[in-house]
Amino acid sequence: MLDQYGRTIDYIRISVTDRCNLRCVYCMPEKGVEQVGHTDILSYAEIVRLCGIFARLGIRHIKLTGGEPLVRKGLPGLAGEIRSVPGIEDVTLTTNGVLLGEQMEALYEAGVRSVNVSLDTLDADMFQTITRRPLLDRVLDGIRACAAYPGVRLKINCVPLKGVNEDQWARMAEIARDYAVDVRFIELMPIGFGKQYCGETQESIQKRLTEIYGEPEALAGHFGNGPGAYLAYPGFAGRIGFISAVSHKFCSQCNRVRLTAEGYLKLCLQYTDGVDLRGLLRDGRSDREIFLTLQEVIGRKPREHQFAAAAGERFEQHEMYRIGG
Ligand code: SAM
Ligand code: SF4
Repeated sequence: MLDQYGRTIDYIRISVTDRCNLRCVYCMPEKGVEQVGHTDILSYAEIVRLCGIFARLGIRHIKLTGGEPLVRKGLPGLAGEIRSVPGIEDVTLTTNGVLLGEQMEALYEAGVRSVNVSLDTLDADMFQTITRRPLLDRVLDGIRACAAYPGVRLKINCVPLKGVNEDQWARMAEIARDYAVDVRFIELMPIGFGKQYCGETQESIQKRLTEIYGEPEALAGHFGNGPGAYLAYPGFAGRIGFISAVSHKFCSQCNRVRLTAEGYLKLCLQYTDGVDLRGLLRDGRSDREIFLTLQEVIGRKPREHQFAAAAGERFEQHEMYRIGG
């Protein structure tokens, strides 16, 4: 469907849980999160029902996220059910990779053909400092398990943080040099605990990589369902991408909305505006009523974020693990 600014909205990120098996310093508090009751989050049946309505609205691409999506039991089964909803073309996943090794086969059988693994460093001590868990080897096992499926597109997402993982950017980029995998640098956003850190700029990472690997070729076109600038460095098997939502705004091409684990549909990462779909589902509203509400609500998606502007109550106060990234 089209929103009020004529943008095609065909992509939704669905968070299936607020829980996580890591505690990344820029995302979650050390003690973990207030536990939301099982009945407070949408059931899989409710999510699948909503996906049917989203598909009728023109949503074609679904990303499962969290918290950590793979900590919720039966996630591959959910992916398979959503995959078979008429109109849905692909179901993809964003994961920290810890449980990917043990679930990759089931995910593949469910039809998942694109996986993003978040990884900020290849150094075990630094990994523990950033995620507060000693689980780098599990993540690397997960990445290897995923890479064993040639039909699955694998992307590694790294958040570059000043003074934290600075010496890792070239090491992360080398994954794309050696394997047909895209390594993407995700600009830190001033959301939740992210406000306490300072992200590195796209320009300075690109400059450093160019000094080491030579002049890259800028690639035209879209790769996947999201925005991003992609570069081909000489001799690299995979691409290097930059997703810089704050410094290189792509709001005019935004194609997405977000659903929290508790069933709140968010229109823009930064704003609280949206609709409580869990309330509508549990009030006994029909699919038609929910469809019409969504048509109106998605239609009013804001023109752009204003992360550079002063904070206020209209702006998102939640942490990233609640929103799903
Ligand atoms: N647990 C999964 C994972 O880590 O991929 C999915 C959820 S996580 C919230 C999704 C993505 O958001 C991760 O790549 C994470 O690095 C990123 N993220 C979290 N906080 C962020 C922030 N303040 N700015 C930019 N990205 C952030
Ligand atoms: Fe968990 Fe992902 Fe947040 Fe890290 S970024 S704490 S893995 S939800």
